[in-house]
Amino acid sequence: MDLYEYQGKELFARFGIPVSEGRLATTPEEARAAAEELGGEVVVKAQVLAGGRGKAGGIKLAASPDEAEAHARDILGMDIRGHVVRKVWIEQASEIAKEYYLSVTFDRGEKKPLFMLTTQGGIDIEEVAEHSPEALARLHVDPLVGFQPYQARWLCFTAGVEDPSEQKQVLDLVGGLYKAFVVCDAMLCEVNPLIVTPEGEVRALDSKFSVDDNALFRHPDIDEMRDPEAADPRERLARDKGVIYVKLDGDIGILGNGAGLVMSTLDVIDQVGGRPANFCDLGGGGDAEGVVAALEVITSDPDVRAILFNIFGGITRCDEVARGILEALGRMEIEDAIVVRLDGTNAEEGRALLVDAAPPNLYVEETMLSAAERVVELAGAR
Ligand code: GDP
Ligand code: MN
Repeated sequence: MDLYEYQGKELFARFGIPVSEGRLATTPEEARAAAEELGGEVVVKAQVLAGGRGKAGGIKLAASPDEAEAHARDILGMDIRGHVVRKVWIEQASEIAKEYYLSVTFDRGEKKPLFMLTTQGGIDIEEVAEHSPEALARLHVDPLVGFQPYQARWLCFTAGVEDPSEQKQVLDLVGGLYKAFVVCDAMLCEVNPLIVTPEGEVRALDSKFSVDDNALFRHPDIDEMRDPEAADPRERLARDKGVIYVKLDGDIGILGNGAGLVMSTLDVIDQVGGRPANFCDLGGGGDAEGVVAALEVITSDPDVRAILFNIFGGITRCDEVARGILEALGRMEIEDAIVVRLDGTNAEEGRALLVDAAPPNLYVEETMLSAAERVVELAGAR
C-alpha cells in the first residue's frame, strides 16, 4: 500500500526524522486557513499517489494566505498522470541550500534492505544511477545482524557528505529511516529531496512510503490511512466483498478456487490463444454468496466478453458449487457466455445439476483445455 506524502511524513516524524510543519486541506478555504495558522511563506503540495508532482505543476510556493488559496484552487481537481488531486498539503516553506537523496528499499534479489544515498538529489534517482553511478552510495543491510551505525557512516563518506554537522544529522536520519522501514514493514521509504537549509539543518522535504500489504494486519493505524477514493473502483468492490481480484488486459473473465488453479487457468487460456481480462480467486469456498460477489466484480469489468469458471472440488464439493452458480445466476442477470469446468469431488453430480437447470448462455465442459478453447471461441464470437 502506497501512502500519500503527508502520511509518510507523519510516520517519519514518529521515528524522529525531521519534517516541516504542515496541514491537510481539501478546499481552497481550508488551504487559506492552514496558511494563516502556519504563518509566513508556505508551499502548496498536491497529494496524489504519483511522483513528479513538481514538474506537473502540483507544487507551488505561496507568500501569503491569499496566494495559498489561489494555488490550492488551481491544484485541487488537477489531473496528475491519471490521479485527480483531492487533497493538498500546506507546509511551512523551506529554504534550500542543497538537495540530497536517501532511500531504503527491499532488494528482492539480495533478500536484504538496500540503502541508497547521493548528494545529487532533487532529480530522478534513475538518472543518477545511469549517468553518475559513482555518486550513488549503495549499501545492503543484513536483516539478521540488523543496521549498524558504521553503515550510516560508510554511506555518508561514500556519497561525499562532508560537513560534520550534516554528517551527524544524516547519520541519525539513516538510523531513523531504517527503524521506520522495519517497524512499519515497509517496502520503500524514500526521501527525495533530503534538503540542507542555508542554516545547515537537514530535513525530509518529500516522502514516498510503501507498506507491504501482507503486513497491514499488524498495523491497523497504517491500514486506516488507506484512501478508498484512490483505489480502482472494481478493486474497491472486490475488497469490500472479500474477493481476490486482479485486473489484466484481455477479454476473458476468470474465476477459480485456489491460487494455483487460477494461475494454471491463465496459462491454459494463453495456450489456446486467449487473453484474460481479469481473475478472481474464490479461495476454498464455492457458496452462492462468494460466487455472486465474484461474478459481480467480474461482470462490472467492461472488457469481459466471456467468463470461465474453473473449479476443482476437493473439500469443496462440485455439486455445492453448481448450486451456488445456479443460485447466483438466479439472482443476477448476466449476458456474457459462461463456461464452467467442474472436476473433483462430486463433479458428475455438479455437471448434471448445471446441464439440467442452466440458462442457455452457460456451457459445461469436462476438461480445463476444452473449457479454455470454448471460452476463447465464445469471447471471439461477441
Ligand atoms: P515531487 O515532484 O512529487 O517529487 O515533489 P517534491 O515534494 O519532491 O517537490 C518537488 C520540488 O519542489 C522539490 O525538489 C523542491 O525543489 C520544490 N519544493 C518543495 N517544497 C519546497 C519548499 O518548501 N521550498 C522550496 N524552495 N522548494 C520546495
Ligand atoms: Mn520528490
